[in-house]
Amino acid sequence: MGKVYQRILLKISGEAIMGDMGYGIDSQVVQAVAQEVANVVAEGVQVTIVVGGGNIFRGVRAAAAGMDRVTADYIGMIATVMNALTLQDALEQIGVPTRVQSAIAMQEVAEPYIRRRAVRHLEKGRVVICAAGSGNPFFTTDTTAALRAAEVDAEVIFKATKVDGVYDADPFVDPNARRYQSLNYSHVLTNDLRVMDSTAIALCKENNIPIVVFDLSVQGNIHRAVMGESVGTIVGGYCEVI
Ligand code: UDP
Repeated sequence: MGKVYQRILLKISGEAIMGDMGYGIDSQVVQAVAQEVANVVAEGVQVTIVVGGGNIFRGVRAAAAGMDRVTADYIGMIATVMNALTLQDALEQIGVPTRVQSAIAMQEVAEPYIRRRAVRHLEKGRVVICAAGSGNPFFTTDTTAALRAAEVDAEVIFKATKVDGVYDADPFVDPNARRYQSLNYSHVLTNDLRVMDSTAIALCKENNIPIVVFDLSVQGNIHRAVMGESVGTIVGGYCEVI
C-alpha cells in the first residue's frame, strides 16, 4: 500500500513533548517523535511541523493571573522557539535535514518564515519546523497550523494529541464516551468539540483541509495515517460515531 499524502502538516502541542512531566521537555519523547517523523520522511512525505509551547508558557493563563495579554502571548510564542530548536536537534541527530522558520525575527537561531522558501525546503526533502506561532498575539499554534497548512498547500493536518481521536464526551471521565470515526467541521464548531480552537477549524473549513486527530504516543501512528489507515478521528468527512 502506498502513501495517501505527499505533503502533511504535523501539529505537535507543547504538552505532547512534555511526556508525563508537569512542565518542560521530555527528551525521550522528543526522540520518539523525531523517529516517527523520520520514518515518514523516508517514504518521501514532505513534512511541515508547527509546534506549540504550552509545556513552557501559555499566554491566556498568564494573562488571567494579571499579566498583560500581549506580552504574555509573545512569551508564549518565544516558548515555541525552544521546542522548535529541540525538535530540530532531535531530527538532525538521526540524519533528517530540517530548517526552523520563525514568525518572530530571530536571525541568529532561525530563518524568518518565508512561505516560498518553506515550500522550497519541502521540495528538497527538508522538514520545515515553524516556530513562534503566527507571530501575532491572540492566536494559537492550532490556528497557525491551519494557516501554514493552507499557505504551503499541505493536504492534511495531523493533530497529535494524547487521546486516540475525538469523543462525544470526555473519555477519561465518561466510560460510555464514543469516539467519532469522522466528523464534519460544522459539527465540531456547533458542539464545541475540543479538536482545535474555532478559528483554526474555521480556517480549515474554508480551505477544505482535513484534520486527522490521533494519539502521538502510539508508535507508528504517523506512518499509519500517512498510509491512509484509520488511526483516530478525521475531521472534514461525514459525521459518524464508531
Ligand atoms: N501564541 C500566540 N500567537 C500564536 C501562537 C501562539 O500568541 O500565533 C502564544 C499563546 O500565548 C499561546 C502560546 O503562544 O498560549 C503557546 O502556544 P499554544 O498554547 O498554541 O501551544 P500548545 O497548546 O500547542 O502547546
